[in-house]
Amino acid sequence: MTAKATADGTEMSLYRGKSARRRGGRALDNYIGGEWRSADRVETVEDVDPVSGEVVAQVPLSGADEVREAVAAARAVQREWRDVPPQRRARAVLALREELIRRRQELVALVTADMGKTLEDADGEVGRGIESVEAAAAIPHLLKGELLEGVAAGVDVELVRQPVGVVAAITPFNFPAMIPLWFLPFAIACGNSFILKPSEQDPRPAALIMETIDAIEEIPAGVVNLVHGGREAVTAILEDPGIDAVSFVGRAETARIVAEGAVRTGKRVQALGGAKNSLVVMPDADLDEAMPAIMGSAFGAAGQRCLAGSVCVVVGDEARRAEVRGALVGHASELTVGPGEDPATDVCPMVASAARDKVADAIERAQGDGAELLLDGRGEGGAAGTLLGPTIAIADDPECELARDELFGPLLTVVEVDDLDAALDFLNGSRYGNAGAIFTRSGAAARRYRYEAEAGMLGVNVGVPAPVAWFPFSGWKDSIDGDLHANGTDAVRFYTREKVVTSRW
Ligand code: NAD
Repeated sequence: MTAKATADGTEMSLYRGKSARRRGGRALDNYIGGEWRSADRVETVEDVDPVSGEVVAQVPLSGADEVREAVAAARAVQREWRDVPPQRRARAVLALREELIRRRQELVALVTADMGKTLEDADGEVGRGIESVEAAAAIPHLLKGELLEGVAAGVDVELVRQPVGVVAAITPFNFPAMIPLWFLPFAIACGNSFILKPSEQDPRPAALIMETIDAIEEIPAGVVNLVHGGREAVTAILEDPGIDAVSFVGRAETARIVAEGAVRTGKRVQALGGAKNSLVVMPDADLDEAMPAIMGSAFGAAGQRCLAGSVCVVVGDEARRAEVRGALVGHASELTVGPGEDPATDVCPMVASAARDKVADAIERAQGDGAELLLDGRGEGGAAGTLLGPTIAIADDPECELARDELFGPLLTVVEVDDLDAALDFLNGSRYGNAGAIFTRSGAAARRYRYEAEAGMLGVNVGVPAPVAWFPFSGWKDSIDGDLHANGTDAVRFYTREKVVTSRW
């Protein structure tokens, strides 16, 4: 295994060259084979501060050459890494946990600065990323095989799990630290080497994670690599024959492109897509308990979570509907919109002005079609044009754009129905099946919802059924292309191949 460049342990090592550092460290480097390598042969795209609109980094749009370099580095070390005993790979993962904990505050601040979410939310994100690392540290247990004695006279059958080889992860903007950490620790704990292509919109937390990797002796150079970029890099990953498996998280449309591309070149793929999650409020729900959970789900991270509840399905008669409308508007009006760094902020900026414009345009279209707005957050967009206040719309037509399309902003659409049957019909009519929640005091209603809802992450009196690393992140329908999810034992199954050996001695 090759020696690795010494990490200097400062944020500046994310950036290329002395002159770049003097300019405020704007050009990001790829991390390949244990070295920070400039990608100055390629175009760059700007990484913009979601609060000020200032350019904070230039992100190289790497292509086939850079991906090929990363694959060569990853492949060169993978056979030796696979030979490292699982207990030692587990210790390497635990060393990553220690390093992430040591730099937790830095990583949290960078998530907020780059993506925009509040510091509290960023801390939760980083905590969940660390939980994935902790779960992967159980790899000696998770990798154990199976044995069936005596399938015929003197014949035994055993199953062993072996790493798939070189794996790549392509990740979205909305969890720039957690989602890379859904994949990285499990992939390397299983004995694979790993290439990360983070979102070009906020890749600095991923670069900081690479710094933590760089500081860990137990993870040899080349086992973990970072290639910045956008579509070209994704295309190169999909086409490179040296990559054996691809993990993806992002919009459903991109998930389909990635899944099809991976299958065309014979790669194993898990492509987690978008969402449109419903929060069902039953007639017996305690609104004092439910409202804070609904607010956090709909408007936390400015609605930019794949677990965001973006539709509130209100079950009940006219009086109950009026009561819930009033409660929603009352609570949402109390929320503070502002920068993620401000502890008073509830609703943070959106990641980019284009994202805000997409949601504002949809609201305007809906208004043109006669939709009623209970609350309109389209005031000042802020210095970067990224602020959007909580907005609540009534959907008379449950099939309208606001009720069915993922808009990924602080917009809550209200659909009103008579009973749980109608609520289930509505939510099961979605093309997505990522998540959902029900608010009720009735065990029977909760049980029926759990049994019937066509979604993989459900909350019962919980607004955000957040990932727990020991379980799979379990989206259904268009929320995933592929069979095996991220995290839990699914991750181990995805990152290993099973081999069945029949022996007679
Ligand atoms: P995105 O699909 O735009 O980008 C995701 C990744 O794909 C990025 O790395 C990007 O560079 C790349 N990419 C984008 N367009 C591409 C194209 N045409 N061809 C090839 N590569 C392309 O997603 P996003 O906007 O960064 O993230 C938000 C989306 O992610 C939402 O839809 C959200 O629901 C989804 N998401 C899903 C989950 C889940 O677990 N299901 C979790 C988080 C986010």
